[in-house]
Amino acid sequence: MSAPGATGDPVAEYDRLQSELLNLQAQFANKKIPQQEFDLLSKQLKDRISAAEAAVYESARKDPSVAKTLRLRSYNETQVQTIISHFVRTAGRPIEPEFGVDRVPKYPIEVSDGEPFSADRIMLQRLADIGGLTQSLYERIVYCPQCQKPSDVFARFKCAQCGSIDIVISRMIEHVMCGTINQEVAFQQGRSMICPTCKKLLTKPEEYRLIGIVCSCNSCHAHFENPTQSYYCRHCKYEFELLGAMITDVFAYGMSKEILNEASKSLGITSLTKTLTENGYEVQVPGVLPASPSKEVVFSLIAKKNDKLVAIDLAHSDSEVEVEPVLQLYIKLLEETRPMVAILAVVPTLSKKAREVAVLHKITVAEGPNAQEVSLRILKILQSALPAVS
Ligand SMILES: [Zn+2]
Ligand SMILES: [Zn+2]
Ligand SMILES: [Zn+2]
Repeated sequence: MSAPGATGDPVAEYDRLQSELLNLQAQFANKKIPQQEFDLLSKQLKDRISAAEAAVYESARKDPSVAKTLRLRSYNETQVQTIISHFVRTAGRPIEPEFGVDRVPKYPIEVSDGEPFSADRIMLQRLADIGGLTQSLYERIVYCPQCQKPSDVFARFKCAQCGSIDIVISRMIEHVMCGTINQEVAFQQGRSMICPTCKKLLTKPEEYRLIGIVCSCNSCHAHFENPTQSYYCRHCKYEFELLGAMITDVFAYGMSKEILNEASKSLGITSLTKTLTENGYEVQVPGVLPASPSKEVVFSLIAKKNDKLVAIDLAHSDSEVEVEPVLQLYIKLLEETRPMVAILAVVPTLSKKAREVAVLHKITVAEGPNAQEVSLRILKILQSALPAVS
């Protein structure tokens, strides 16, 4: 069955299916549909959601505006926030893979507080697919086609004639001065290199050069230059050629300056949302308020509790936040005149100039070294702020 609306806006279709699932779950929670029907319907919906998600990513590869929509959404995910923080903290140092004993690539990221964190490779790849990360080829790994693991795969070099792996691979060396070419072993005398023809002691690397390899087979005694190469998985006891191997590209991931600028604006939203939600606020990210019939004002988030409306803009910098976000919030508040508490959340601090502008325009500011502390500061402001004036 092809998903209806697949030809229309794929993001809207994906959202529609997601909210359909939420509805279904709400109905089930209210005991409006029986278990069996719920199981069936939710499975069908989840399948359609994965298909819709694939379609969304497909269209993001062609359409930059879809890619941007997906990026802005992804920035609020906890894992993605950790990744963005890494790039902010390290001024854009790429995230490189590490290979443990199982050879499966891991992407460890230093986190300033708490447990060591390893970014999920699939998640990094998805971010790259929507333009959030740049990727550069770092290494290729051979996976066994049977167990789908790289951990027990060994490269094999075999006799070109009989296929035995019992071969000797020798390096061929040329003594540059006298032109002698022989196997490396013929030059080796203890730890020294001595030319077997002219008997000169070779002390500098530029006195001889490596000109190739030669192989000989201990089974059939054949001599040849190019051994046949294959792979062997010790776990499966299975040998396979390059042709049948699963070869996976492993990338290092970076973030361009432009994207870092876009992404870092969202830092801390998760933390703010969490704190406000825990304190009984209903939070909307991003916070959209209709201003005039044709216009809307967008804040980083808005939060509601009883009759109180709170609009928060979040500004983030690795040193000092400049004037721009202060002015932006000021302009929004000129357009949006309904009573509310408006706060500029700043990590870590405002510049001197920005602070003067904030004071001049009576902008409430919550500053702190990280989003968590800013959240607590905001709670204090909200507790002391008078209920909205009617
Ligand atoms: Zn295997
Ligand atoms: Zn052989
Ligand atoms: Zn020589």
